[in-house]
Amino acid sequence: MMARRRSIWAWGFEDRQPAPAALSMLAARLSSVLGGPPLVPMPAPDEAAIQLSPPTIAPPDDIARFCTSDDRERMLHTRGRSFPDIWRSLHGDFRTAPDLVAHPATEDDLAALMVFAAYAGLDLVPWGGGTSVVGGVEVPLPRPRPVITVDMGAFTVVRDVDPISRRATVGAGLTGPALEAALGAHGLTLRHYPQSFEFSTVGGWVATRAGGHFATVYTHIDDLVAGVRMVTPAGPFETRSLPASGAGPAPERLVLGSEGALGFITEATLRVRPRPTRRADAVVQFEGWEEAVAATRAVAQSGLFPSNCRLLDRREAALNMVGPGVRHLLLLAFESDGAPVAARLENALALATAAGGTCPKGPRLRDEGQDAEKASAGDAWRGAFLEAPYLFSSLIRLGAVVDTFETAVSWADFPALHAAVKAAVHGAFDAAGVKGLLTTRFTHVYTDGPAPYYTFITAPPAGGDPLALWQAVKVAASDALLAHGATITHHHAVGRTHAPWFSKEVPVLHQRALEAVKGTLDPAGILNPGVLGLGGR
Ligand SMILES: Cc1cc2nc3c(=O)[nH]c(=O)nc-3n(C[C@H](O)[C@H](O)[C@H](O)COP(=O)(O)OP(=O)(O)OC[C@H]3O[C@@H](n4cnc5c(N)ncnc54)[C@H](O)[C@@H]3O)c2cc1C
Repeated sequence: MMARRRSIWAWGFEDRQPAPAALSMLAARLSSVLGGPPLVPMPAPDEAAIQLSPPTIAPPDDIARFCTSDDRERMLHTRGRSFPDIWRSLHGDFRTAPDLVAHPATEDDLAALMVFAAYAGLDLVPWGGGTSVVGGVEVPLPRPRPVITVDMGAFTVVRDVDPISRRATVGAGLTGPALEAALGAHGLTLRHYPQSFEFSTVGGWVATRAGGHFATVYTHIDDLVAGVRMVTPAGPFETRSLPASGAGPAPERLVLGSEGALGFITEATLRVRPRPTRRADAVVQFEGWEEAVAATRAVAQSGLFPSNCRLLDRREAALNMVGPGVRHLLLLAFESDGAPVAARLENALALATAAGGTCPKGPRLRDEGQDAEKASAGDAWRGAFLEAPYLFSSLIRLGAVVDTFETAVSWADFPALHAAVKAAVHGAFDAAGVKGLLTTRFTHVYTDGPAPYYTFITAPPAGGDPLALWQAVKVAASDALLAHGATITHHHAVGRTHAPWFSKEVPVLHQRALEAVKGTLDPAGILNPGVLGLGGR
């Protein structure tokens, strides 16, 4: 059987890209929303015509045996999947392709590679699924040193599943589907579903502090990691797997969010759970945005802790085809592998309706041992959520400038932040003379504040540079986030794109302490230079 091929430029597999008829429909829909002339899809890049610079290194045999200079492999490992990434790949620009791609199979391979890199003076970029949207896996030009991108895809061993403690120790290279298949054989699940689930990996989630399925309580992978193993140029860094500990600054916290700058994560011990069998969900509609936010806050602060509590503004609802775009929607869900959930949903609904919402379809209950996963498979939101990355690539192919950015802020500061973000983004649209759309949702909610997630889409800038427009929106939005007490990222990570704002967000001494840690674990500075603002050249 032929292996499915991943696209060198778009999200996902080549055989899942939308057919021409679907692209035409999308083009018509986009033109009707954004105006302007009819949109015509760009042709996909011609792989055979793309010329890569020859590799500038030739490693010794013991390293060369797991490295490749194959052009397609180098193109596939050039960058992540943000707007600028997809745009540049679509235009056949692979000047930043790594010199080589390494496929190590063991920690000994990694150790040998790190010794060689320190000796030969090159940079190593740890690679999980390559779904970074913050420039986490691409060393920009000009490059003073050769680059080897290190694909962790062979680290897939499930070493231990402990149903008593509900833990699994798994290889960092497992993708979301592979991990869930392995756990499913034991009737267990991690229930960590970032939108990039199909291709992102355990190691990537840990390295970026990814945000997943749960809207409350277990929002980040951090909450699901009991222990972790990382190999660094200075030796192995393995934490004890504990349910909790008060023993000083936690070592696993150095690994969570390390973004490939401190070592290669090879294994993680994860807190797993039985698959849910009971589910109760409801969609609450709101005429006004303020009352929708107040209702969401009431649920977030109620102590009910829903697994889903996603607020979509009406434009976001329309974009995801879960509503006609007339009302704002609050998606509520509770799930469990035994305890009843209906009463919790009713309490949450009472809070949401007291704040002005209506629930015309009433609650849906999936109780009494049905497989909750199967029962909700047709859910429009979930389908749209997983399909969205394919849509994103297609919009770029049609010439739209489209991207997302996300944050977290206190409930008290949210209204001012939201107003500032809208003003900043629309100001950037106006300055470029383009018509654009900005949509909002809350991906996660906390007792003290929401995690707002924004999507912007503009028509192609007539005669303008799409990358410059993207940059202008990104800078305006990021400045607004920092100026209004929000974080530069709730879960997309820092990478290279957010590094300038990250350094303003954290205390100066924190950055200096991180640099000292980098100097200890990676003294020759060979690992992913530039992410987190560390070790850039
Ligand atoms: C369409 C789309 C949807 C997304 N949705 C979400 C979402 O819902 N939630 C979310 O949190 N993020 C999301 N992201 C961002 C991205 O998927 C996450 O950051 C994810 O955790 C990256 O995992 P990866 O395996 O693809 O890592 P990569 O992209 O390969 O790498 C990301 C960073 O981690 C480092 N790294 C990767 N593996 C290792 C390892 N084994 N050891 C050390 N360092 C390593 C890399 O060097 C890099 O700095 C989305 C991205 C896209 C394109």
